[in-house]
Amino acid sequence: MESIIVKNKGLSEDEANKRIDKFGLNDININNKKKVYNILLDQFKDILIIILAISTAISFLLGEWLDAIVIFIIIIINGILGFIQEFRAEKAIESLQSYISYKAKVIRNGKVVDIDTKFLTIGDIVIVEEGDRIPADGELLQAKSLSVDESLLTGESVPVMKSNYDDNKVYMGTYVVSGKGVFKVTSVGLSTKMGSIARMISEIEQEKTPLQQRLNQFGKWLALICLSVCFLIVILGILRHQDIYEMFMIGISLSVAAIPEGLPAVVTITLAIGVQRMVKKNALIRKLSSVETLGCVDIICTDKTGTLTENKMTVKKIETVSKMIEVEGNGYDVRGRILQDGKIIKNELLDNIVLCSKLCNNATFEVKKEFGNKTNYIVKGDPTEIALLVFSYKYSERLGDFERIDEIPFDSDKKYMAVYCKHNSEYYLFVKGALENLLEKCSFYMDSNGEIKELSLYSKKIILEKNAMLCNNAMRVLCLCMKKNSKVIDDLIFLGLVGMIDPPKRGVKVAIERAKKAGIKTIMITGDHKLTAYAIGKDLGIANSFEEVAEGNIFENDEADYDKYIDKFNIFARVSPKHKLKIVRTLKKKNHIVAMTGDGVNDAPAIKESDIGISMGLSGTDVTKNVASMVLLDDNYSTIISAVEEGRIIYNNIRKFIKYLLACNIGEVFTMFLASLLFLPLPLLPMQILWVNLVTDGLPAAALSVCRPDEDLMEKKPRKKDESIFADRLMGKIIVRGILIGITTLISFYLPYKNTNNIELSRTCAFATLVISQLIYAFECTSERRGIFEINIFSNIYLFFAILISLALFLAVILIPSLGIIFNTYRLTRIEWIIVLACATTPSIFNYLIEKDVG
Ligand code: ATP
Repeated sequence: MESIIVKNKGLSEDEANKRIDKFGLNDININNKKKVYNILLDQFKDILIIILAISTAISFLLGEWLDAIVIFIIIIINGILGFIQEFRAEKAIESLQSYISYKAKVIRNGKVVDIDTKFLTIGDIVIVEEGDRIPADGELLQAKSLSVDESLLTGESVPVMKSNYDDNKVYMGTYVVSGKGVFKVTSVGLSTKMGSIARMISEIEQEKTPLQQRLNQFGKWLALICLSVCFLIVILGILRHQDIYEMFMIGISLSVAAIPEGLPAVVTITLAIGVQRMVKKNALIRKLSSVETLGCVDIICTDKTGTLTENKMTVKKIETVSKMIEVEGNGYDVRGRILQDGKIIKNELLDNIVLCSKLCNNATFEVKKEFGNKTNYIVKGDPTEIALLVFSYKYSERLGDFERIDEIPFDSDKKYMAVYCKHNSEYYLFVKGALENLLEKCSFYMDSNGEIKELSLYSKKIILEKNAMLCNNAMRVLCLCMKKNSKVIDDLIFLGLVGMIDPPKRGVKVAIERAKKAGIKTIMITGDHKLTAYAIGKDLGIANSFEEVAEGNIFENDEADYDKYIDKFNIFARVSPKHKLKIVRTLKKKNHIVAMTGDGVNDAPAIKESDIGISMGLSGTDVTKNVASMVLLDDNYSTIISAVEEGRIIYNNIRKFIKYLLACNIGEVFTMFLASLLFLPLPLLPMQILWVNLVTDGLPAAALSVCRPDEDLMEKKPRKKDESIFADRLMGKIIVRGILIGITTLISFYLPYKNTNNIELSRTCAFATLVISQLIYAFECTSERRGIFEINIFSNIYLFFAILISLALFLAVILIPSLGIIFNTYRLTRIEWIIVLACATTPSIFNYLIEKDVG
């Protein structure tokens, strides 16, 4: 296919800016953000809070004004804390959207420039090609085999052929499936078709993740249980002729304290902040739910070129039928000789090899000498082709002017590319591609003097052996062929094999090893030869024997068989995109949680089908980015492993603060419940309960969401996808700790009560024990494995300060006399402090001893 040549000069920058001012940015910014005051109002909409507020108002009218004011203040502080959390969650989600931006190829001032699609405006001339997202609505000026996927707008999955004659309209948000086109922008932003169909509101899924959904469900049950227990406490109190109003206030305060209404917001913040941390490590998450799935991934199917390797190719060897030629140099550096038997070589065969390398090529390579003799290389295009240009540069012979007449572009299914050129009234066909796909189309070869000879079976065997040798040295091999005065790809003249190296990326080998330790298998998927794939895979630790390598064509056999043998392979070579889809399906059928990388349009189905679809950020097309749940901004395999690690950290941190919040709340309820069962007076007053809740729930729980991981985090097997958040005895641990906190709090209440009969002093002891035991527990929750004596309290500095603040707030109530009057607390004597500290530490010590025994 011919390349499109655009004659239009486009808008000038000045004119474009004027139009942007007039028509606005090309942005669909549908304001679905919760308004700030709505978030604030939501905090006070909870039915329990309303009942509490009304009852407090009544108590104010009845003359209990001090109590009432304090409870009001607590309600308001609680509300503000809730507001801050939810506001942060909203902000965090919102900021994720700004990471996703698309670029468009636009003609401005007669030059093709890449600009952020936001800055496109009416009248701009835009060039689109395979894989691009159409950035605005427009009318086609030129189209070459342009087909567009408009399913986003029409629901129709079959791509639509477009031309500049009949169906010449293109729409924002649709994708180019194949071909090229040039269009003039007719509408931008909200005035586009997409803008008017407001369903494409945001790129980041705002719907609840599975974990959030399950927690919401769980929260409802929890609320029901809490309410029932609180109700029971109230009834028991009333039956024992305690003051009805006091019991009612206790019931309501306890319910407010016990129901972890802040949980959903903390979960959202944790997920969203985790996503922000991932972006800093070059992993852009497009669906919040992927953060959870990442922790379950047990297979990563990764492309080789560019993800495991540098994608910076260098031609190292040329093999002709009879000779081996070496190419010196590395990377883009054009210094390097071309040697045969140690001597610089030039001959007619090499002239043609260089011609084919240079002409059957869509990359551009420019060497710029700068002041001070500094050399700059300006490169654009496929690294395989850039390598060929650098190689031809080294040959430095002038090879005449050839005009390209036609082209068959490269695609990963055919695995070759061809150009048809005219030179001095003669026509030349140059072809380059995978040897398997071209050797059968060769009938001749060219010898060093440029003579054309018949390609015997024996010569073919030699070529295959030479190919294997290059592949065994981890080289990507291209077969170069040509033909004169015919376009038909048959009876070609074999010129030579070009072997190029592409070194592994730094850190990839270590990352693969880490993945292995974390129970994650890495499968390499490549379009390259089996031997090349094996040589690289072996070097990286992906495969140990050649038995572990399969070719993509095994998926062309009987479908039922795949799952029998798929587990034994670690490398798939000569894979085309349709094989990728089968690989994902088979692995998923075997209950694996699969992450799959890809970049081209054809990879989109496999990416979509996988549990975590990963698109390349640098080399990926807009189509793959759009269907992917994660985009690798640096195209690097190691980034996937960092993301998996982050996913595991986030999930564990969610477990940590759930563990903390629930155990504390059970502790509070159980203290009151046990007291009622034992016919004891109420160990805490309503405002004390609310204060405990305020001091212990807010800051420490939020700080727990940013804990450092346990050292063995990446040595554990991946989590099962349907595993409960309470797996691994978590629920049991929560209940046991809650009960222990309840019992010890009641003991610290009962001992002074029995000895002094001073109810306020005893309540102060209970209040102190409850707060201190919860704050100690917060430190314990920083690690899933360590007991109280092994914890480093500085491991989470936020938690350390959160606890200091909570402790200060609690001590203020006990030590400042005026606050003591308000909260009905006493200054404790040394002996009472000893009782409090002994009771507050007992649950942790008890837990430490039990866990040690359990192992
Ligand atoms: P990986 O999965 O490692 O990234 P890939 O799937 O991108 O590899 P392809 O680019 O499809 O692999 O390449 C497969 C084969 O096609 C290569 O081994 C090479 O022989 C041939 N090939 C690659 N690039 C070109 C090109 N630009 N022109 C012609 N042939 C090519």
